[in-house]
Amino acid sequence: MKLTCAQFKKDFLSEIETLYSTSLSDTSTIGQFIALGQLVRRYNSQSWTRTAKFYRDHHQKQVYYFSIEFLPGRLLASNLLNLNLLTTVKKGLTELGLDFETISQAEPDPALGNGGLGRLAACYMDAMASLKIAGNGNGIRYRYGLFKQVFMDGYQVELPDDWLHHGNVWETRRDNKSCIVQFGGNVWLQPQADGSLQPQSENTEDVLAVPYDVGIVGYHNDITNTLRLWSAELPPSATYSSQDQRDRISEITKVLYPDDSNSAGQQLRLRQEYFFSSAGVQSIVRDFCATHHGIKLLGKKVAIHINDTHPTLVIPEMMRLLMDEHHCSWEVAWTLTTQVMSYTNHTILQEALETWPIDMFKNLLPRIYQIIAEIDRRYREQQTPIFGKALVDQTAPLGNGQVRMAYLAVIGSHSVNGVAPLHTELLKTDVLRGLYQVYPERFNNKTNGIATRRWVQLANQPLAQLIDQTIGSDWRRQPDLLQTLLPYQQDDHFLYQLGQVKLTNKQALAAYVQRTMGIKIRTDAIYDVQIKRLHAYKRQLLHVFEILREYFAIKDHPQQPVVPRVHIFGAKAAPSYHYAKAIIKLINVVADMVNQDPAIGDRLKIVFIPNYGVSIAELIIPAADVSEQISTASKEASGTSNMKLMANGALSLATYDGANIDIMQAAGAENEYPFGLKVNEVYDYYHRGNYHAADFYDADPELKRLLDSLIDGTIPGIPTVGREIYDSLLRYNDEFFVLADYRAYVTQQQQISRDFQNQPTWQQRSLANIAASGHFAADLAVARYADDIWQVPHERLN
Ligand SMILES: *Cc1c(COP(=O)(O)O)cnc(C)c1O
Repeated sequence: MKLTCAQFKKDFLSEIETLYSTSLSDTSTIGQFIALGQLVRRYNSQSWTRTAKFYRDHHQKQVYYFSIEFLPGRLLASNLLNLNLLTTVKKGLTELGLDFETISQAEPDPALGNGGLGRLAACYMDAMASLKIAGNGNGIRYRYGLFKQVFMDGYQVELPDDWLHHGNVWETRRDNKSCIVQFGGNVWLQPQADGSLQPQSENTEDVLAVPYDVGIVGYHNDITNTLRLWSAELPPSATYSSQDQRDRISEITKVLYPDDSNSAGQQLRLRQEYFFSSAGVQSIVRDFCATHHGIKLLGKKVAIHINDTHPTLVIPEMMRLLMDEHHCSWEVAWTLTTQVMSYTNHTILQEALETWPIDMFKNLLPRIYQIIAEIDRRYREQQTPIFGKALVDQTAPLGNGQVRMAYLAVIGSHSVNGVAPLHTELLKTDVLRGLYQVYPERFNNKTNGIATRRWVQLANQPLAQLIDQTIGSDWRRQPDLLQTLLPYQQDDHFLYQLGQVKLTNKQALAAYVQRTMGIKIRTDAIYDVQIKRLHAYKRQLLHVFEILREYFAIKDHPQQPVVPRVHIFGAKAAPSYHYAKAIIKLINVVADMVNQDPAIGDRLKIVFIPNYGVSIAELIIPAADVSEQISTASKEASGTSNMKLMANGALSLATYDGANIDIMQAAGAENEYPFGLKVNEVYDYYHRGNYHAADFYDADPELKRLLDSLIDGTIPGIPTVGREIYDSLLRYNDEFFVLADYRAYVTQQQQISRDFQNQPTWQQRSLANIAASGHFAADLAVARYADDIWQVPHERLN
């Protein structure tokens, strides 16, 4: 939008005046942020209204992206970028004696997700708006986001994340769009005069679902889509309520489950899932009926996407609405439902596949259970003659006394996709093998993508400017144009500038580390980065062994020259995940031991930055030289931090897992550091049962020394934690093949130290990564969803 600097200053001062009845010099930074946020909202309010009309006038099909997590990051800078106001606002604030970065950092970072899943949903919201897709998010407005992480004595301590303390400038509460979600009670089928059966219920617990809408601004296109987050409240009809009742209701949207790698087997989680699924579907059907004639058009005008299994109950909920309230027959309702629904699977970890005990499910959601039982009955009836009882028993929605959410999601959708080619193959051959036999045509791959706007344009402005100067600014709209940077591999001056950009970003990170942690790090060292949730399969432990190896090497040969390194971690562990927390303690203890050892000096440093989240990621990623993507092959469905890091010029030290494989293909394996077991080798170990971790320990004296250091007092202060980790590897045979991959990993780490000294060549390879990263832009990924799955129009990308 158009705005002069003078006008902006005038508007901002008047906003301050209106809000606080005082002068600018008398306001706090958070107060300035709120005023700026309100102003930006006001600037954008017409676009939000116009967008709804634009889609209506074009009879555009609506996409609803259901996700129990959204991890949008701070929105001020991103909204300004997309509105094309960033430069004007920065300049205006400077002229008023204020600093944009300071104000921007006062914004709370909404942690309404655990990690990759929630961040993907946020990147896709941004991409849908930028592609002019009528894309709506649907999720939960958690009163408290993911815990705030602090370290005490090296242990993770979880503090509540009171992100709404100052309110949320970006949201609009819409009381008129509220609806009632029902739990529990009894339901029976009442015969009607026309012979049909109408379900009746009594003694239900009614919850009011109130939507809070957040505008999602498209990039330079006057589009503002909506992210709708639901909050649970007491319904106005509840004339009397006990404190207990009120607590039970507000509990539903109180906290985010701090785990995305375990199915949380708790009633509250199931209540959360049905709550936002039901409220979302009710509001979709209501909006549809207000704008269209005839429920039978639903499949043409609405697409509902199920991001992982948590929103799967949209399927029986849609059936319920169509049959019980719109009086469709089962057959019509089922045709419409499957036309509308599509599902993305995000994991092959068995422990993350959601199931619910039937007894609990029935009590909490009796009508929904009836519908699932009928889906199950019909599935068995139709498929058994074709595929046989054994396969149908294995794949039906109900089995082993459980409601199996992933199976229900596949059966009730017309499309199911994995998030990287390898992952999709594993769905077909392993996790969802039986359902792949029944519905082969439903399976497809959609490799994940990232919002280049946030992860390069905003997070790495020095790089973005260098790219503008080199190839012009069209890449900002069309990230695949980044490939036109590749010829600059031969341009020494460009490579030098690329090195300077990295240095600038390292200086910024070093300053943050010094200021917040009191650790001084060199900016000429290799910044070796591993940032992601703490989980055994992601193998932060392998990285710790490399650190110990480097440490012992310096201690053993103090005179030998070494290439300085800084190992950078960011990771939260689920509060109940004991082993992950032990690894956190280990990293912190090793960090203290190394950082404080005068014999080491500044040659080796370890920084574990607390409270990893989107904002910390934005600080670390532009400064990274090496991107550690070292999960056990087959365990990481895609990964997306691998993509963000490559786009910022880091070289991947990576296993053949998830999208690492595609990154190697796109950028050239010679520009990465691949290593380790391949999926078939991991599976061979499983099938033959012949993995013996102790063999690796016995055969490699260096590895033996590292492991022994966990329990022989070399690393001080971890008698129990050290023993536990040691035992996981040797007594319990190393579930994630850390020892099997150790030697190949270390070999690549040594190669990195040699290669880093040749900076021009390193920068050439860094550039190869940046140039190939357009491949993984969320805009392209979302365009493929739009074409293949949702069948909605979108703006062309070129
Ligand atoms: C991208 C991102 C993730 C996902 O990281 P992976 O390494 O792919 O697991 C997690 N958390 C945050 C804050 C992110 O930005």
